[in-house]
Amino acid sequence: MKTKIPVDIELLKKYDKAGPRYTSYPTAPHFHEGVNGEKLLAHIKNDNENIADKDLSLYFHIPFCDTLCYFCGCNMMVTRNQDKIEQYLDYLEKEIQLLKKHIDNDRKVIQLHFGGGTPTHLSPDQLLRLGKIIHNHFDFKDDAEVGVEIDPRELTRDHMVALSEAGFNRCSMGIQDFDKKVQKTVNRIQTEDITWDAVRWARELNFTSINLDLMYGLPFQNYDTYGKTIDTILSMNPDRLAVFNYAHLPGMIKHQNLIKEEWLPSGDQKLELLKLSIEKLNEAGYVYIGMDHFAKPEDELTRAMQNGTLYRNFQGYSTHAGINLFGFGITSIGMLTDIYAQNYKKLDEYYQALNKNQLPVMRGISLNRDDQLRREVITELMCNFKLDKSKIEHKYKIQFDNYFLEALSTLKSFEDDGLIYLGDTQLKVTDAGRLLIRNIAMNFDHYLMKKQDKRPQYSRTV
Ligand code: SF4
Repeated sequence: MKTKIPVDIELLKKYDKAGPRYTSYPTAPHFHEGVNGEKLLAHIKNDNENIADKDLSLYFHIPFCDTLCYFCGCNMMVTRNQDKIEQYLDYLEKEIQLLKKHIDNDRKVIQLHFGGGTPTHLSPDQLLRLGKIIHNHFDFKDDAEVGVEIDPRELTRDHMVALSEAGFNRCSMGIQDFDKKVQKTVNRIQTEDITWDAVRWARELNFTSINLDLMYGLPFQNYDTYGKTIDTILSMNPDRLAVFNYAHLPGMIKHQNLIKEEWLPSGDQKLELLKLSIEKLNEAGYVYIGMDHFAKPEDELTRAMQNGTLYRNFQGYSTHAGINLFGFGITSIGMLTDIYAQNYKKLDEYYQALNKNQLPVMRGISLNRDDQLRREVITELMCNFKLDKSKIEHKYKIQFDNYFLEALSTLKSFEDDGLIYLGDTQLKVTDAGRLLIRNIAMNFDHYLMKKQDKRPQYSRTV
């Protein structure tokens, strides 16, 4: 299969602007407080009865970290206070109890993910405890994908054994860059040796998929040292790779002020680093899945992309489309057929709601028909790089070209630049267009077209 993606830096520069990543549509800045726990419960009841695929996806947010990486954009807090962590696990259990009684018992888990923060900042005993709580409340399918984000820096083999005993079979490890100067500047010292240990333990314990994360655009990165990092990462032979663009937003994320603007690579240098990543990964045989992600040709994500069944939600790319996703813990977001619901972001607010036996939902959005239609169009394009117009017309009883007159007209310039093919029956993103898929999707985003007093801040698209 074709694995090479052409990288045209001038085209990337032309389209580079701020835009959503579309882990949801409508995107999180449009969530509002009209969605609460009661509203979520009504939608759970409806989906229990009416959803075609009753499988469940669960996400647990573990917000704790040992130290702060200065580039971090996650919802996290630094703590070594074990009582604080135990208390959080108590409340996660309470949230599971409150929610689970509303989910039909015959619905089984096909996907579970621990994200953070750093899930492996929990001790092996704490990981086992949380695993037991989850398995006591939910039945799992035999082929469930059970994944965890790992920080190799404080990982022990006992952590990996505990994760394996708790049923985990996939893992994703943060690396970002192996260069010492880069690591020192961003306060994340991680040697190659400890990373190798983590990869080896995962393999010994039969984790079937290992993902490694790297990041371009960090301070003091240059072509040579970053190239070496990629070579080292490739020698670890991961099944998947994620190559993230560092989003420097010090106005929004205070601790990013610890990274001085003048230490960062220029826009042009960043694009060169992106080009280098893509070329090296393509050369090594990895297939571009989309939105920063690469996988081996035999990986299930690659196969799903080939079959047109790839899907995307808050857990990233997935082979499970259209199932309910329930989020547990602070800031986590659940997604049902036509509602998103996000939990409180602060620990005290999250605890207060649970103390009152209420679901800790802070905000969200119910999707109207137009939202659902646009979500499907954006998801199809972002996951499968093509769209069958008649499928959408049939499902939503619209005439596609009329409904999306404005979007199709602005997409003409994308077609002229060789990024998309606008056919009579199909839209097809070209190989060159894949890197600009966020920009293509933005044309279908109704909320971006609306006049707003204050535009939400998004990261750059390339
Ligand atoms: S370990 Fe991960 S979540 Fe924690 S500060 Fe570093 S990047 Fe952020």
